[in-house]
Amino acid sequence: MPASTSPATSGRTPTQHDLDTLSRQLNRPVRDVVEIPARCVCGNPLVAATAPRLSNGIPFPTTFYLTHPVITAAASRLEAAGLMNEMSERLTTDAALASAYQGSHEAYIRARAEIGERSGTGPVPEIDGVSAGGMPTRVKCLHALVGHALSAGPGVNPLGDETIAALAPWWTPDVCHCAGAWDDFAPVPHKDLSRHVKHLNQASESSI
Ligand SMILES: [Zn+2]
Repeated sequence: MPASTSPATSGRTPTQHDLDTLSRQLNRPVRDVVEIPARCVCGNPLVAATAPRLSNGIPFPTTFYLTHPVITAAASRLEAAGLMNEMSERLTTDAALASAYQGSHEAYIRARAEIGERSGTGPVPEIDGVSAGGMPTRVKCLHALVGHALSAGPGVNPLGDETIAALAPWWTPDVCHCAGAWDDFAPVPHKDLSRHVKHLNQASESSI
């Protein structure tokens, strides 16, 4: 079913079901997600937009976070195949591409400021001029570029658009690839089970 016929899951404002789906996609609870800027044709989130300042006060530059497991796995394959190096090299020789990518960087920062306004975060001067994924002069994370390109739509991030096209063996925007990508019936993760936090928890437990 196209997202447009499903008003409950087509808006930018996340529903509780969206937040639960994000937690299942990432296998950890999500925090400070303020918008769903890109959805599958079925309505499920593809990207989560995080407030530019977290509720604990920490500035957070990575506004567009790719959450869909099929796309994140496919982007990791492209990274492993060396696509980032190839793109970074082209940025040093192709002036038109470099200029367009500079524009992507600026668009990212503008979009983040708008999300900050809509979510009530306000300006976050600590991350002025910082975007994500290596922009504006390098490519360091395809997930960040895809997250941005899916959120902004075609024509805003040329290397993100290229990466999306390169995902085609595994994922295309016109078809739902959600079935089996995560467990819709599993309990929603409530504790952060990521290694980093587990480590911090262990450290704090052992220091008690
Ligand atoms: Zn879907």
